[in-house]
Amino acid sequence: MRPGANGPIGSADDFHREARQARSHGAGFKGLDFAKAPLLVIWESTRSCALACKHCRAAALMGRDPEELTTAEGFRIIDEAAAMGTPLFIVSGGDPLQRPDLPELIRHGKERGLRMGTIPAATPRLTRERLAELKAAGVDQVAFSLDAPSAAAHDGFRGVDGSFAKVLEAVGWAHELDIPVQINTCFAAWNFKDLDAMAEIVQGLGIVFWEVFFLVPTGRGKAMDGLSAEQFEHAFAKLYALSQKVKFVVKLTEAQHYRRYTVQQETLRRRAGAAPARPTMGASAPAVNAGKGFLFVDHRGDVYPSGFLPMVIGNVRKATLQSLYREHPLMLGLRDPARLTGKCGVCEFRVVCSGSRARAYAMTGDPFGAEEACAYEPVAEAGKSVA
Ligand code: SF4
Repeated sequence: MRPGANGPIGSADDFHREARQARSHGAGFKGLDFAKAPLLVIWESTRSCALACKHCRAAALMGRDPEELTTAEGFRIIDEAAAMGTPLFIVSGGDPLQRPDLPELIRHGKERGLRMGTIPAATPRLTRERLAELKAAGVDQVAFSLDAPSAAAHDGFRGVDGSFAKVLEAVGWAHELDIPVQINTCFAAWNFKDLDAMAEIVQGLGIVFWEVFFLVPTGRGKAMDGLSAEQFEHAFAKLYALSQKVKFVVKLTEAQHYRRYTVQQETLRRRAGAAPARPTMGASAPAVNAGKGFLFVDHRGDVYPSGFLPMVIGNVRKATLQSLYREHPLMLGLRDPARLTGKCGVCEFRVVCSGSRARAYAMTGDPFGAEEACAYEPVAEAGKSVA
């Protein structure tokens, strides 16, 4: 899609101006420098989970791995994240409720000044009592996954009957306990038709944050179809419009080209003399991407640029999070837009966007390759095709 191809949205110069403006934000969350620290660390505290979700990155299994990081090792990586200046720490899984020490881990993170979140699976382990323990430990936000607007579709996807009802029940408990609620939804080809219905549902749940994931074909998700470039544009339009009217944050994950879309929309508004839109880019001006504002630690301590980019850069039992994040050659490369190839490498939005590095790797085998699910045609590429 060339500039202007999606309606009367002006010249390429407008896009360049907006892209420069977005670039000029430079650093991320409250001045956080992504060269020094990630915005968030996600720790897959266990791979054990009673659900069997069709898209599971981790291909989670029943039963805890004896090689999982211990409580003391969990404390250490929390300490290391805090020491390098990371503000957000998420204890994920698998199902983090499979770890009895989850409240201790949350409490430890709070004592280190981190904003702590977790993502319990909707299984019988998810009870009001367990949520009350997390509340007492100081958890800042709890996320539940909801992928379809009906119990039959959601439970079929998650592999366990009753999961949909459990999420709704848990949202009610969280409200009673005054825990801010986040809903995570992963869109792929199978549930793309449900985007409007899901938006309706989440608006009725009293949430503070809707994290909308877009399938990266890795783990069990390899067997699933993701969205086409056109479907992404369609989703961006709907989610952008939603973000302008709801009070909760609408955050898109593994859709870095939403940054390009929002810059384009701002151009349209400015040229039409409209007031700027509500900020839609979340906490950070540059797109968080694998290895850029983000770090993932698996249940055995292996460290990755992202949970969706399965390239191990080291292990927390042998190296510090800080050294791996700041110095590993892959991480340095992932933060360098000059390393991008294909159309992302010549794109005027490559600094604010850079495309999903995880999807590029999943689809091309090259973490620096083109984001194939982006409809935008960079000016340089357009020139080439015209010549
Ligand atoms: S071509 Fe790549 S860098 Fe440009 S907008 Fe699309 S995904 Fe982003």
